[in-house]
Amino acid sequence: MKAVVSLNSGSSSIKFALFTLDDAGNLVHSAGGKIEKIGIEPSLAARRADGSALVERTWKDGADLTHAQLLKDLFDWAIEHLEGREVMAIGHRVVHGGMRFASPRLIDADVLAELDALCPLAPLHQPHNLAAIQAVAALAPDLPQVACFDTAFHHDKPEVAGRLALPRALHDQGIRRYGFHGLSYEYIARQLQAIDGELAGGRVIAAHLGNGASLCAMQGGKSVDTTMGFTALDGLMMGTRCGTLDPGVVLHLQTQLGMSPDEVDDLLYRKSGLLGVSGISSDMRTLVAHTSPEAQEAVELFIWRAAREFGALTASLGGVDGLVFTAGIGENHAEVRKRMCERLSWLGLSIDAEANAANAPDISATGSRVKVLVIPTDEERMIADHTLAVLQSQR
Ligand code: ADP
Repeated sequence: MKAVVSLNSGSSSIKFALFTLDDAGNLVHSAGGKIEKIGIEPSLAARRADGSALVERTWKDGADLTHAQLLKDLFDWAIEHLEGREVMAIGHRVVHGGMRFASPRLIDADVLAELDALCPLAPLHQPHNLAAIQAVAALAPDLPQVACFDTAFHHDKPEVAGRLALPRALHDQGIRRYGFHGLSYEYIARQLQAIDGELAGGRVIAAHLGNGASLCAMQGGKSVDTTMGFTALDGLMMGTRCGTLDPGVVLHLQTQLGMSPDEVDDLLYRKSGLLGVSGISSDMRTLVAHTSPEAQEAVELFIWRAAREFGALTASLGGVDGLVFTAGIGENHAEVRKRMCERLSWLGLSIDAEANAANAPDISATGSRVKVLVIPTDEERMIADHTLAVLQSQR
């Protein structure tokens, strides 16, 4: 049996999934899991597709273990548990593909060097994505590896949606709006096609609301505009990121408050958003359950900002036919969905309370002018499918 592994290596976690190639040439999800709390006390949990546990372990005193060391342990464990499968390739989520990479790519030394040069544009993600590629290359030098980019889905959006109002020379050297969460949006577009082909052909805004959060305006399943821009810092308020910010604030922090570039970086990426405004947590569940006014204000600001950006993307599309919620908050948090949709009632959008509480796929109220859906995302599946397609195109 042949198999493909997808890896999504982030700052504090490594998510992985194993897909087995069936006789019809389709990839079937066989197992998946993640290593969490890297840098604190790493733990590994993996499950088979039927939900049964495959492994659970913790690295006590493992705070110093690097991604590479943990991947080595994961490899050793996986080799014993592949149950006769032969891994054909590993596909990776790579956050930034820059100007050049508009589709998944087989990784070689040149590609890796180009991706490395993009690290300053995605400091929270890109270095960890590439560390995983390098770790796998050291462990299995002959195993094909494929990079799947979060920017690729947005590559062909209209020129105007990719331009910042800066001098042309900066645009030409790559200071432009790229957009992210593309693997998630591509998966959503594909699922929507299967669930409601007519809606998929129309104007849909997908809301990927997780620790990282963004919206994507799609017309006929293609990205037309999105809230993230040059970096994954732009747009919505997030768990620890500020989202759209008056650039004058950055100047003020540096010139008047004397903050160094590193301190500003840390502030905007890791100390802002839900965490910064609440002073309590970056986790939506914790904040919604918390009674303090600061927690409530953080939640309100998150919803207000998301609804406001939704209005902006509605203008980019010239109207909207559908809203799809996805990712941790979008898939699970009925209260946040309800309050965001209340703010969008001016569009003739309304949801059904019962369907919303049940996270049902279609949560629109009867008569809503905009269809509202909840569709779980699956970036690992998208990575595996792309990886197989790249392998097949090499033959
Ligand atoms: P990441 O961007 O790191 O992949 P996720 O998509 O897992 O993040 O989203 C994390 C967010 O989703 C957190 O704010 C968390 O509170 C929220 N979330 C995850 N699961 C649930 C749930 N079952 N109910 C409510 N909120 C949830």
